[in-house]
Amino acid sequence: MPTPGLDGYAPPWLKPEHDDLAELARDFFAKEVLPHAGRLDRQGHPDREHYLRAGELGLLGLSVPEQYGGGGGDFTHEAVLIHEQTRCGEGSLGLAVHSGIVTGYLARYGTEEQKRRWLPGLCRGELVGAIAMTEPGGGSDLQAIRTRAVLDGEDYVVTGSKTFITNGGLADLLILAVKTDTGQGAAGISLLVCELSDDTPGFQRGRLIEKIGLHANDTAELFFDEMRVPAGNLLGSEGGGFFQMMEQLPQERLVIGVGAVAAMQRAVELAVAYAKERTAFGKPLIGHQNTRMVLADCATRTRASRIFLDDCIGRHTRGELDVATAAMAKLWLTEGQCEVVDKCLQIFGGYGYTTEYPIARMYADARVQKIYGGTNEIMKELIARVL
Ligand SMILES: Cc1cc2nc3c(=O)[nH]c(=O)nc-3n(C[C@H](O)[C@H](O)[C@H](O)COP(=O)(O)OP(=O)(O)OC[C@H]3O[C@@H](n4cnc5c(N)ncnc54)[C@H](O)[C@@H]3O)c2cc1C
Repeated sequence: MPTPGLDGYAPPWLKPEHDDLAELARDFFAKEVLPHAGRLDRQGHPDREHYLRAGELGLLGLSVPEQYGGGGGDFTHEAVLIHEQTRCGEGSLGLAVHSGIVTGYLARYGTEEQKRRWLPGLCRGELVGAIAMTEPGGGSDLQAIRTRAVLDGEDYVVTGSKTFITNGGLADLLILAVKTDTGQGAAGISLLVCELSDDTPGFQRGRLIEKIGLHANDTAELFFDEMRVPAGNLLGSEGGGFFQMMEQLPQERLVIGVGAVAAMQRAVELAVAYAKERTAFGKPLIGHQNTRMVLADCATRTRASRIFLDDCIGRHTRGELDVATAAMAKLWLTEGQCEVVDKCLQIFGGYGYTTEYPIARMYADARVQKIYGGTNEIMKELIARVL
Protein backbone atom coordinates (compact mmCIF):
# COMPACT_ATOMS: atom_id res chain seq x y z
CA MET A 1 0.00 0.00 0.00
CA PRO A 2 1.49 3.41 -0.88
CA THR A 3 1.79 5.87 1.98
CA PRO A 4 -0.14 9.10 1.37
CA GLY A 5 2.32 11.98 1.30
CA LEU A 6 5.30 9.65 0.94
CA ASP A 7 4.58 8.37 -2.54
CA GLY A 8 7.59 8.86 -4.76
CA TYR A 9 9.89 9.56 -1.83
CA ALA A 10 12.81 7.17 -1.36
CA PRO A 11 15.48 7.34 1.34
CA PRO A 12 18.82 8.52 -0.04
CA TRP A 13 20.47 5.29 1.19
CA LEU A 14 17.99 2.97 -0.53
CA LYS A 15 19.43 0.44 -3.02
CA PRO A 16 17.62 -2.28 -5.03
CA GLU A 17 18.83 -4.88 -2.50
CA HIS A 18 16.82 -3.09 0.21
CA ASP A 19 13.65 -3.51 -1.86
CA ASP A 20 14.31 -7.24 -2.20
CA LEU A 21 14.88 -7.52 1.53
CA ALA A 22 11.70 -5.54 2.27
CA GLU A 23 9.69 -7.88 0.07
CA LEU A 24 11.13 -10.99 1.71
CA ALA A 25 10.45 -9.59 5.18
CA ARG A 26 6.91 -8.47 4.29
CA ASP A 27 6.11 -11.91 2.94
CA PHE A 28 7.46 -13.64 6.03
CA PHE A 29 5.57 -11.45 8.49
CA ALA A 30 2.33 -11.40 6.51
CA LYS A 31 2.15 -15.05 5.50
CA GLU A 32 3.92 -16.89 8.31
CA VAL A 33 3.55 -14.84 11.50
CA LEU A 34 0.49 -12.59 11.27
CA PRO A 35 -1.95 -15.46 10.74
CA HIS A 36 -1.06 -16.51 14.31
CA ALA A 37 -1.40 -13.02 15.82
CA GLY A 38 -4.42 -13.79 18.02
CA ARG A 39 -2.84 -16.89 19.52
CA LEU A 40 0.51 -15.12 20.04
CA ASP A 41 -1.26 -12.29 21.85
CA ARG A 42 -2.94 -14.75 24.16
CA GLN A 43 0.21 -16.73 24.93
CA GLY A 44 2.15 -13.51 25.60
CA HIS A 45 5.31 -14.46 23.74
CA PRO A 46 6.43 -15.24 20.19
CA ASP A 47 6.91 -18.73 18.78
CA ARG A 48 10.49 -19.99 18.78
CA GLU A 49 9.77 -21.51 15.36
CA HIS A 50 9.30 -18.00 13.99
CA TYR A 51 12.81 -17.04 15.13
CA LEU A 52 14.16 -20.18 13.47
CA ARG A 53 12.25 -19.48 10.27
CA ALA A 54 13.45 -15.85 10.22
CA GLY A 55 16.99 -17.21 10.62
CA GLU A 56 16.46 -19.69 7.81
CA LEU A 57 15.30 -16.87 5.53
CA GLY A 58 18.41 -14.84 6.38
CA LEU A 59 16.47 -12.11 8.20
CA LEU A 60 18.46 -12.26 11.45
CA GLY A 61 21.82 -10.56 11.94
CA LEU A 62 21.56 -8.63 8.69
CA SER A 63 24.42 -6.35 9.74
CA VAL A 64 26.58 -9.17 11.16
CA PRO A 65 29.63 -10.01 9.01
CA GLU A 66 29.13 -13.08 6.84
CA GLN A 67 31.93 -15.07 8.48
CA TYR A 68 29.79 -15.16 11.65
CA GLY A 69 26.67 -16.27 9.83
CA GLY A 70 25.16 -12.83 9.24
CA GLY A 71 23.99 -10.98 6.18
CA GLY A 72 27.13 -8.84 5.83
CA GLY A 73 25.04 -5.67 5.53
CA ASP A 74 24.85 -2.58 7.69
CA PHE A 75 22.33 -0.68 9.79
CA THR A 76 20.23 0.22 6.74
CA HIS A 77 19.33 -3.47 6.37
CA GLU A 78 18.32 -3.74 10.03
CA ALA A 79 16.22 -0.59 9.55
CA VAL A 80 14.38 -2.08 6.57
CA LEU A 81 13.53 -5.21 8.56
CA ILE A 82 12.17 -3.29 11.55
CA HIS A 83 10.28 -0.92 9.28
CA GLU A 84 8.55 -3.79 7.50
CA GLN A 85 7.72 -5.58 10.75
CA THR A 86 6.01 -2.49 12.15
CA ARG A 87 4.37 -1.49 8.86
CA CYS A 88 2.50 -4.76 8.69
CA GLY A 89 1.59 -4.77 12.39
CA GLU A 90 3.70 -7.72 13.56
CA GLY A 91 4.70 -7.25 17.17
CA SER A 92 5.62 -10.64 18.61
CA LEU A 93 9.24 -11.12 17.57
CA GLY A 94 11.70 -8.95 19.48
CA LEU A 95 13.86 -8.41 16.42
CA ALA A 96 14.76 -4.84 17.25
CA VAL A 97 16.54 -6.13 20.38
CA HIS A 98 17.69 -9.53 19.09
CA SER A 99 19.16 -8.32 15.81
CA GLY A 100 19.17 -4.57 16.07
CA ILE A 101 20.94 -4.40 19.44
CA VAL A 102 22.36 -7.68 20.83
CA THR A 103 24.29 -8.74 17.73
CA GLY A 104 25.66 -5.20 17.52
CA TYR A 105 27.23 -5.43 21.01
CA LEU A 106 28.76 -8.83 20.26
CA ALA A 107 30.10 -7.81 16.86
CA ARG A 108 31.59 -4.61 18.30
CA TYR A 109 33.05 -5.80 21.61
CA GLY A 110 33.28 -9.59 21.37
CA THR A 111 36.60 -11.40 21.05
CA GLU A 112 37.05 -13.56 17.97
CA GLU A 113 36.18 -16.61 20.06
CA GLN A 114 33.04 -15.00 21.49
CA LYS A 115 31.82 -13.91 18.08
CA ARG A 116 32.29 -17.41 16.67
CA ARG A 117 30.54 -18.92 19.67
CA TRP A 118 27.40 -16.78 19.76
CA LEU A 119 26.77 -14.87 16.55
CA PRO A 120 25.97 -17.84 14.27
CA GLY A 121 23.34 -19.15 16.73
CA LEU A 122 21.71 -15.71 16.95
CA CYS A 123 21.73 -15.41 13.15
CA ARG A 124 20.11 -18.83 12.75
CA GLY A 125 17.48 -18.00 15.38
CA GLU A 126 18.61 -20.91 17.55
CA LEU A 127 19.52 -18.45 20.29
CA VAL A 128 17.18 -15.62 21.25
CA GLY A 129 19.04 -12.52 22.44
CA ALA A 130 18.17 -9.96 25.11
CA ILE A 131 19.87 -7.15 26.98
CA ALA A 132 19.26 -6.34 30.64
CA MET A 133 20.09 -2.97 32.13
CA THR A 134 16.93 -1.93 33.98
CA GLU A 135 16.40 -2.99 37.59
CA PRO A 136 13.33 -2.80 39.81
CA GLY A 137 14.97 0.08 41.68
CA GLY A 138 15.41 2.20 38.55
CA GLY A 139 16.11 2.33 34.85
CA SER A 140 16.98 5.92 34.07
CA ASP A 141 19.94 6.12 36.45
CA LEU A 142 22.06 3.36 34.95
CA GLN A 143 25.09 4.19 37.06
CA ALA A 144 23.13 3.15 40.14
CA ILE A 145 22.49 -0.47 39.13
CA ARG A 146 22.90 -2.91 41.99
CA THR A 147 23.20 -6.36 40.38
CA ARG A 148 26.71 -7.36 41.30
CA ALA A 149 29.25 -9.80 39.90
CA VAL A 150 32.10 -10.99 42.09
CA LEU A 151 35.05 -12.84 40.59
CA ASP A 152 35.49 -16.25 42.24
CA GLY A 153 38.13 -18.44 40.60
CA GLU A 154 37.23 -18.87 36.94
CA ASP A 155 33.71 -17.46 37.30
CA TYR A 156 31.79 -14.35 38.14
CA VAL A 157 29.12 -14.94 40.75
CA VAL A 158 26.10 -12.80 39.90
CA THR A 159 23.38 -11.71 42.34
CA GLY A 160 20.57 -9.27 41.68
CA SER A 161 17.54 -8.77 39.48
CA LYS A 162 16.43 -7.07 36.29
CA THR A 163 13.01 -6.07 35.10
CA PHE A 164 11.14 -5.14 31.91
CA ILE A 165 13.49 -7.26 29.81
CA THR A 166 12.33 -7.55 26.21
CA ASN A 167 12.60 -11.17 24.99
CA GLY A 168 13.15 -12.08 28.65
CA GLY A 169 10.76 -15.01 28.53
CA LEU A 170 12.59 -16.85 25.75
CA ALA A 171 16.11 -15.42 25.93
CA ASP A 172 18.97 -17.91 25.74
CA LEU A 173 21.70 -15.31 25.49
CA LEU A 174 21.60 -12.26 27.72
CA ILE A 175 23.88 -9.27 27.80
CA LEU A 176 23.75 -8.37 31.46
CA ALA A 177 24.86 -5.07 32.97
CA VAL A 178 26.45 -5.70 36.38
CA LYS A 179 28.54 -3.92 38.96
CA THR A 180 31.96 -5.54 39.16
CA ASP A 181 33.12 -2.76 41.49
CA THR A 182 30.36 -1.66 43.85
CA GLY A 183 32.54 1.18 45.15
CA GLN A 184 32.29 2.97 41.82
CA GLY A 185 29.47 4.43 39.70
CA ALA A 186 29.83 4.27 35.91
CA ALA A 187 33.40 2.96 36.13
CA GLY A 188 32.21 -0.06 38.15
CA ILE A 189 29.86 -1.38 35.45
CA SER A 190 30.70 -4.34 33.20
CA LEU A 191 28.80 -6.42 30.67
CA LEU A 192 28.58 -10.19 30.98
CA VAL A 193 27.17 -12.49 28.33
CA CYS A 194 25.03 -15.08 30.10
CA GLU A 195 24.04 -18.35 28.46
CA LEU A 196 20.68 -19.08 30.00
CA SER A 197 18.40 -22.04 30.27
CA ASP A 198 15.61 -22.71 32.71
CA ASP A 199 18.00 -25.15 34.46
CA THR A 200 20.84 -22.67 34.94
CA PRO A 201 21.62 -22.81 38.68
CA GLY A 202 20.95 -19.49 40.40
CA PHE A 203 18.83 -18.17 37.54
CA GLN A 204 15.09 -17.72 37.53
CA ARG A 205 12.74 -16.13 35.05
CA GLY A 206 9.99 -14.18 36.70
CA ARG A 207 6.49 -13.82 35.39
CA LEU A 208 5.82 -12.34 31.98
CA ILE A 209 4.80 -8.77 32.69
CA GLU A 210 1.25 -7.89 31.63
CA LYS A 211 1.34 -4.70 29.60
CA ILE A 212 -1.21 -2.36 28.02
CA GLY A 213 0.24 -3.12 24.57
CA LEU A 214 2.79 -5.31 22.80
CA HIS A 215 0.90 -8.31 24.14
CA ALA A 216 2.65 -10.91 22.00
CA ASN A 217 6.17 -9.86 22.97
CA ASP A 218 7.64 -11.33 26.13
CA THR A 219 8.76 -8.78 28.69
CA ALA A 220 10.05 -10.43 31.85
CA GLU A 221 11.70 -10.05 35.20
CA LEU A 222 14.94 -11.98 35.67
CA PHE A 223 16.47 -13.04 38.99
CA PHE A 224 20.05 -14.04 39.75
CA ASP A 225 21.06 -15.70 42.98
CA GLU A 226 24.75 -16.56 42.93
CA MET A 227 24.53 -17.54 39.28
CA ARG A 228 27.98 -18.48 37.95
CA VAL A 229 29.10 -16.97 34.66
CA PRO A 230 32.52 -17.96 33.24
CA ALA A 231 34.98 -15.05 33.47
CA GLY A 232 35.61 -15.57 29.75
CA ASN A 233 32.07 -14.30 29.09
CA LEU A 234 33.02 -10.75 30.03
CA LEU A 235 32.24 -8.55 27.03
CA GLY A 236 35.05 -6.07 26.54
CA SER A 237 36.91 -4.96 29.63
CA GLU A 238 35.95 -4.91 33.30
CA GLY A 239 34.62 -1.45 34.14
CA GLY A 240 33.97 -0.66 30.47
CA GLY A 241 30.25 -1.51 30.47
CA PHE A 242 28.87 1.98 30.96
CA PHE A 243 30.96 3.33 28.10
CA GLN A 244 29.85 0.43 25.88
CA MET A 245 26.18 1.11 26.62
CA MET A 246 26.61 4.84 25.96
CA GLU A 247 28.27 3.98 22.66
CA GLN A 248 25.49 1.56 21.63
CA LEU A 249 22.43 3.44 22.91
CA PRO A 250 22.30 5.82 19.90
CA GLN A 251 21.67 2.78 17.68
CA GLU A 252 19.00 1.49 20.07
CA ARG A 253 17.30 4.90 19.94
CA LEU A 254 17.46 4.95 16.16
CA VAL A 255 15.88 1.49 16.05
CA ILE A 256 13.01 2.90 18.13
CA GLY A 257 12.77 5.82 15.71
CA VAL A 258 12.50 3.45 12.74
CA GLY A 259 9.54 1.73 14.40
CA ALA A 260 7.99 5.10 15.20
CA VAL A 261 8.04 6.31 11.60
CA ALA A 262 6.77 2.99 10.26
CA ALA A 263 3.88 3.18 12.72
CA MET A 264 3.06 6.75 11.65
CA GLN A 265 3.01 5.65 8.01
CA ARG A 266 0.69 2.79 8.82
CA ALA A 267 -1.64 4.96 10.88
CA VAL A 268 -1.96 7.52 8.09
CA GLU A 269 -2.60 4.80 5.50
CA LEU A 270 -5.29 3.20 7.63
CA ALA A 271 -6.96 6.51 8.48
CA VAL A 272 -6.99 7.75 4.89
CA ALA A 273 -8.51 4.48 3.68
CA TYR A 274 -11.17 4.61 6.41
CA ALA A 275 -11.94 8.28 5.78
CA LYS A 276 -12.58 7.49 2.12
CA GLU A 277 -14.92 4.62 2.85
CA ARG A 278 -16.92 5.84 5.86
CA THR A 279 -19.65 8.38 5.33
CA ALA A 280 -21.18 10.92 7.72
CA PHE A 281 -23.72 13.62 6.90
CA GLY A 282 -24.07 12.23 3.39
CA LYS A 283 -20.45 12.32 2.31
CA PRO A 284 -17.22 10.45 2.97
CA LEU A 285 -15.35 11.59 6.07
CA ILE A 286 -12.51 12.78 3.88
CA GLY A 287 -14.94 15.27 2.32
CA HIS A 288 -15.26 17.07 5.69
CA GLN A 289 -12.80 19.87 6.16
CA ASN A 290 -11.65 18.86 9.63
CA THR A 291 -10.79 15.32 8.51
CA ARG A 292 -8.82 16.71 5.61
CA MET A 293 -6.90 19.11 7.87
CA VAL A 294 -6.09 16.39 10.42
CA LEU A 295 -4.90 13.98 7.75
CA ALA A 296 -2.85 16.70 6.07
CA ASP A 297 -1.15 17.42 9.42
CA CYS A 298 -0.46 13.73 10.00
CA ALA A 299 0.90 13.16 6.49
CA THR A 300 3.18 16.19 6.82
CA ARG A 301 4.46 15.13 10.21
CA THR A 302 5.10 11.64 8.86
CA ARG A 303 6.99 12.88 5.85
CA ALA A 304 9.16 15.27 7.87
CA SER A 305 9.82 12.47 10.37
CA ARG A 306 10.84 10.11 7.61
CA ILE A 307 13.33 12.60 6.23
CA PHE A 308 14.84 13.32 9.66
CA LEU A 309 15.06 9.58 10.32
CA ASP A 310 16.77 8.93 6.99
CA ASP A 311 19.28 11.66 7.71
CA CYS A 312 20.04 9.96 11.06
CA ILE A 313 20.32 6.54 9.42
CA GLY A 314 22.74 8.01 6.88
CA ARG A 315 24.82 9.59 9.66
CA HIS A 316 24.81 6.35 11.64
CA THR A 317 26.02 4.21 8.71
CA ARG A 318 28.86 6.71 8.22
CA GLY A 319 29.70 6.47 11.94
CA GLU A 320 28.67 10.09 12.51
CA LEU A 321 25.52 9.84 14.62
CA ASP A 322 26.18 11.71 17.87
CA VAL A 323 24.42 11.09 21.18
CA ALA A 324 22.34 14.29 21.09
CA THR A 325 21.08 13.77 17.53
CA ALA A 326 20.09 10.17 18.33
CA ALA A 327 18.27 11.48 21.40
CA MET A 328 16.49 14.10 19.25
CA ALA A 329 15.40 11.35 16.87
CA LYS A 330 14.08 9.14 19.66
CA LEU A 331 12.31 12.07 21.32
CA TRP A 332 10.71 13.68 18.29
CA LEU A 333 9.84 10.56 16.36
CA THR A 334 8.16 8.80 19.29
CA GLU A 335 6.27 11.95 20.32
CA GLY A 336 5.18 12.18 16.69
CA GLN A 337 4.11 8.54 16.64
CA CYS A 338 1.89 8.98 19.70
CA GLU A 339 0.36 12.18 18.32
CA VAL A 340 -0.25 10.87 14.81
CA VAL A 341 -1.66 7.54 15.97
CA ASP A 342 -3.99 9.34 18.40
CA LYS A 343 -5.27 11.72 15.72
CA CYS A 344 -5.74 8.86 13.26
CA LEU A 345 -7.61 6.81 15.85
CA GLN A 346 -10.05 9.71 16.32
CA ILE A 347 -11.01 9.46 12.64
CA PHE A 348 -12.29 5.93 13.30
CA GLY A 349 -14.74 7.19 15.90
CA GLY A 350 -15.96 4.43 18.23
CA TYR A 351 -14.45 1.74 16.02
CA GLY A 352 -11.02 3.16 16.79
CA TYR A 353 -11.51 2.16 20.39
CA THR A 354 -12.29 -1.46 19.58
CA THR A 355 -9.62 -4.11 19.39
CA GLU A 356 -11.11 -5.26 16.11
CA TYR A 357 -9.41 -2.32 14.41
CA PRO A 358 -5.58 -2.31 14.19
CA ILE A 359 -5.45 1.41 15.02
CA ALA A 360 -6.54 0.61 18.59
CA ARG A 361 -3.66 -1.79 19.08
CA MET A 362 -1.28 0.73 17.52
CA TYR A 363 -2.42 3.30 20.08
CA ALA A 364 -1.63 0.97 22.99
CA ASP A 365 1.64 -0.22 21.44
CA ALA A 366 2.86 3.32 20.79
CA ARG A 367 2.89 4.49 24.39
CA VAL A 368 5.97 2.59 25.50
CA GLN A 369 8.08 4.15 22.79
CA LYS A 370 8.33 7.31 24.92
CA ILE A 371 9.53 5.21 27.87
CA TYR A 372 12.03 2.54 26.87
CA GLY A 373 15.47 3.05 25.35
CA GLY A 374 15.82 5.89 27.86
CA THR A 375 12.73 7.93 28.66
CA ASN A 376 11.98 11.03 26.62
CA GLU A 377 12.78 13.16 29.67
CA ILE A 378 16.28 11.65 29.67
CA MET A 379 16.49 12.36 25.92
CA LYS A 380 15.84 16.04 26.66
CA GLU A 381 18.63 15.98 29.26
CA LEU A 382 21.04 14.53 26.70
CA ILE A 383 20.05 17.14 24.12
CA ALA A 384 20.24 20.02 26.59
CA ARG A 385 23.78 19.03 27.57
CA VAL A 386 25.15 20.05 24.18
CA LEU A 387 23.25 23.34 23.95
C1 LIG B 1 7.81 -2.91 27.31
C2 LIG B 1 9.15 -2.52 27.88
C3 LIG B 1 10.30 -3.11 27.38
C4 LIG B 1 11.54 -2.80 27.93
N1 LIG B 1 12.67 -3.45 27.49
C5 LIG B 1 13.84 -3.31 28.17
C6 LIG B 1 14.98 -4.12 27.85
O1 LIG B 1 14.95 -4.97 26.95
N2 LIG B 1 16.10 -3.97 28.60
C7 LIG B 1 16.20 -3.05 29.60
O2 LIG B 1 17.24 -2.97 30.23
N3 LIG B 1 15.13 -2.26 29.92
C8 LIG B 1 13.97 -2.37 29.24
N4 LIG B 1 12.87 -1.59 29.56
C9 LIG B 1 12.99 -0.67 30.67
C10 LIG B 1 13.00 0.81 30.26
O3 LIG B 1 14.17 1.10 29.56
C11 LIG B 1 12.83 1.62 31.54
O4 LIG B 1 11.49 1.44 31.96
C12 LIG B 1 13.13 3.09 31.35
O5 LIG B 1 14.50 3.28 31.11
C13 LIG B 1 12.72 3.93 32.57
O6 LIG B 1 13.18 3.37 33.76
P1 LIG B 1 12.14 3.19 34.97
O7 LIG B 1 10.97 2.47 34.46
O8 LIG B 1 12.88 2.57 36.10
O9 LIG B 1 11.68 4.65 35.33
P2 LIG B 1 12.43 5.67 36.33
O10 LIG B 1 13.89 5.72 35.99
O11 LIG B 1 12.03 5.35 37.72
O12 LIG B 1 11.75 7.04 35.90
C14 LIG B 1 10.42 7.39 36.30
C15 LIG B 1 10.08 8.75 35.70
O13 LIG B 1 11.00 9.73 36.20
C16 LIG B 1 11.59 10.40 35.10
N5 LIG B 1 12.98 10.76 35.42
C17 LIG B 1 13.95 9.93 35.89
N6 LIG B 1 15.10 10.60 36.00
C18 LIG B 1 14.85 11.87 35.58
C19 LIG B 1 15.65 13.05 35.48
N7 LIG B 1 16.94 13.05 35.76
N8 LIG B 1 15.05 14.18 35.04
C20 LIG B 1 13.74 14.19 34.71
N9 LIG B 1 12.94 13.11 34.81
C21 LIG B 1 13.49 11.95 35.23
C22 LIG B 1 11.54 9.42 33.95
O14 LIG B 1 11.64 10.09 32.70
C23 LIG B 1 10.17 8.80 34.18
O15 LIG B 1 9.19 9.61 33.64
C24 LIG B 1 11.63 -1.85 28.98
C25 LIG B 1 10.46 -1.23 29.45
C26 LIG B 1 9.23 -1.57 28.94
C27 LIG B 1 8.01 -0.93 29.52
